[in-house]
Amino acid sequence: SNFTDLGLIPPLLARLAELKYTTPTPIQAQAIGSVLAGRDLIAGANTGSGKTAAFALPLLQQLSKQLQASTSTKREKGNFVSGLVLVPTRELATQVADSIKSYAAHFNGTIKTTVVFGGVSVNKQMQNLRGGSDIVVATPGRLLDLIASNAIKLDKVCTLVLDEADRMLGLGFADELSKLLALMPSEKQTMLFSATFPEQVTALTDKLLIDPVEIQV
Ligand code: AMP
Repeated sequence: SNFTDLGLIPPLLARLAELKYTTPTPIQAQAIGSVLAGRDLIAGANTGSGKTAAFALPLLQQLSKQLQASTSTKREKGNFVSGLVLVPTRELATQVADSIKSYAAHFNGTIKTTVVFGGVSVNKQMQNLRGGSDIVVATPGRLLDLIASNAIKLDKVCTLVLDEADRMLGLGFADELSKLLALMPSEKQTMLFSATFPEQVTALTDKLLIDPVEIQV
């Protein structure tokens, strides 16, 4: 298959051509169509599988369609976010946010992506969140801190991605994760990526995902 057959729109196809992505990786070929159709997703995938594009491309496409459909060109006031990507580490947060920004190059700045992670000063991140974001890539602890400071609200999350869920739980983020999940609408699309599926992860997928498409690459 190719990216056009998967149903991606021209601004994304143009960017993929520039990046010389000629063929979808197996996870992209299996995930993108279902995610565009609105399904929840569980994917067993390692780094290097192309998992980032597997969630980032359909996420960007959905958000760009929502922005086009909305009558107002301004983001709603109140530091809201539509697409939330939770990751275990700051390195992964930076890497995923950079990839999303790169894939969004042909949306001409209409999609705002913000990255937040711990271990650095909070002030710049609070500033970046002001006025809301379309996509936020975050580590759980720092995100909770920013919510406590009213710098971001999760009430309008419509798509949630949990990347490297096994590492996230392995690093002890289970409590943070349940607190964050309680702050999001229950009606949303959820995608969970994990290299392994220990009991902690399957318990989470059972609780969180509704009739998900399951992919193992
Ligand atoms: P990931 O597993 O998301 O960390 O991606 C691994 C690497 O593969 C990254 O450097 C991507 O830029 C690259 N990549 C992802 N999808 C494709 C593709 N369809 N064709 C070529 N390279 C890709």
